[in-house]
Amino acid sequence: MSGNVADRLTVGQLSERELLAQIFPRLANSSSVLLGPGDDAAVVAAPDGRTVISMDTQVQDQDFRLHWNNGYASTGFDVGWKAAAQNLSDINAMGAVATGMVVSLTMPPQTELEWMRDLTEGLSRAITELGADRCAVVGGDLSSGRELVVTVSVIGDLEGRAPVLRSGAEAGDRLAICGALGRAGAGWALLESENSISSLNADQLALLDSFRCPRPPLLAGPAAARAGATSMLDVSDGLIRDAGRLALASEVQIDLDPGVLRELARPLEPAARLLGRNAVDWVLGGGEDHGLLSTFGPRSALPPGFTVIGSVRSKADNDTNPAGVQAPVTVAGQRSDVVGWDHFAD
Ligand SMILES: [Mg+2]
Repeated sequence: MSGNVADRLTVGQLSERELLAQIFPRLANSSSVLLGPGDDAAVVAAPDGRTVISMDTQVQDQDFRLHWNNGYASTGFDVGWKAAAQNLSDINAMGAVATGMVVSLTMPPQTELEWMRDLTEGLSRAITELGADRCAVVGGDLSSGRELVVTVSVIGDLEGRAPVLRSGAEAGDRLAICGALGRAGAGWALLESENSISSLNADQLALLDSFRCPRPPLLAGPAAARAGATSMLDVSDGLIRDAGRLALASEVQIDLDPGVLRELARPLEPAARLLGRNAVDWVLGGGEDHGLLSTFGPRSALPPGFTVIGSVRSKADNDTNPAGVQAPVTVAGQRSDVVGWDHFAD
């Protein structure tokens, strides 16, 4: 942050019109936007004739923290990037391409103007750097409140394809992941630890970045849809929990390959040793990487970037399982104790 006096202004010292004047120039445009911010509503092209739509809210100290045990303070950039990335990821997980984003931002009046500008920058940079070329922020709302709340809604285009649902997996399919798994979970554990930023090496800082600014593979959703993915969702709450959602929706059982899980966990081992944790637990239970979990029929070729991590079985197979395992997701036939993140769990 610079020492410029203007940068120490708080949002409570500016009018809404002045705040918007700080935001608009930081937003990129895109080919989908027929009418951008500034009117009562925006107009976005919907060439497919259908609109995919998703929304997500982040509440300070509930969904994100500004201050961490290890001394790190989340920047506006972090919060903006993440809000954009996780919403873009939901559109991706339907096999669609994002075309427009609206943002509702509630801020305490003492929020520094610089923090808000950073947040706008994070939103904008996530859209550009993650490759959401057809998407732009087309509008939103500013409000004052006791805590920071960022609500983002994204619309998307199916480009003529059928949406890929959670409910389409069938016995005999392969389960595959594209993108990171467990890295954000490891980064979160580092932020929660007593290990200060200055004590971390480059690999550990990269894990922190995976949590701060996740990189969902936005080209993979449409690619998987084109390749005939039978079901899909993004891993936001951990592999076990999200694979479980897919298994329940599809009325199948999913069995994960422990050898592949160990392989995926290998790069996380040094951080796990530092914290006295199990790296495989991060792969199974760590959320917020927003990798793409898809199932493919036995004859479908997997698109680039996907790794097979398990298989889909019929629930009837489960009845003959000698262990009597009833969990929707197992690891080599055994129930896993790792459950992932639940917003309403104790
Ligand atoms: Mg999702």
